[in-house]
Amino acid sequence: MAGTDAEPRQLPGNDEALARRAREVRQRVAAAAERSGRAAAAVLIVAVSKTVPAERMRAAYELGFTTFGENRVQEAREKIAALSLPGLRWELIGHLQTNKAALAVGLFDRVQSVDSVRLAETLERRAEAAQKVLPVLLEVNVAGEASKSGLAPDELLAAARAIAALPHLRPEGLMTVAPLVGDAEEVRPVFRRLRELRGRVRAAVPLGDDGGWHELSMGMTDDYAVAIEEGATIVRIGRALFGTRPAP
Ligand SMILES: *Cc1c(COP(=O)(O)O)cnc(C)c1O
Repeated sequence: MAGTDAEPRQLPGNDEALARRAREVRQRVAAAAERSGRAAAAVLIVAVSKTVPAERMRAAYELGFTTFGENRVQEAREKIAALSLPGLRWELIGHLQTNKAALAVGLFDRVQSVDSVRLAETLERRAEAAQKVLPVLLEVNVAGEASKSGLAPDELLAAARAIAALPHLRPEGLMTVAPLVGDAEEVRPVFRRLRELRGRVRAAVPLGDDGGWHELSMGMTDDYAVAIEEGATIVRIGRALFGTRPAP
């Protein structure tokens, strides 16, 4: 009979914890957005689902999270096959090896982790072969950590120029992974720097009528509020939503 679905759904305990964490994250995102003079809707929450089983992801989807971030192509491939839900979007946030570029082009709606011109050129060839235009972000290693991938700030402009010239890639902004610190305030300068770099890229390599490069993907579980205050348009949140990950 029509209307019976108005009955509230009973959530098992595990889902209740997820729902509570989701509420907390959304409240903190909204509050930080407000402090930066923006609406909560101006900040996209990418639910980082690496190591999270497909069934937990489905529960997150039912709570309204429709964009998932994965850092391994193979793991994403399995979960994409397992979860075909309307409106679902997948973003690659981890380092991509060129030999997986074709697979990535077929699987992801956006690749946030373009960390070299060589990778971009490989993605360009694969996207052309697939007859699609792939949205990308350029990953910047702002703090110059040896353990992290990403373009160095001093090679960013040249890379941005080269990548903007590739017809099957659509650069939409910059991404960074901040250093692990005890206090999120310590990484505020990293986020500020990414925003400044975005301004320089926009001035040197303008895209479209308004200069483009709109997206700043920065901020994770421990530092997303600070990142939003510094202008993040995308935050990538794993543990604050799904709980602690198993040790690798
Ligand atoms: C794992 C991961 C995240 C999410 O980290 P949390 O601390 O769990 O929020 C965000 N970005 C990248 C690139 C990651 O690998």
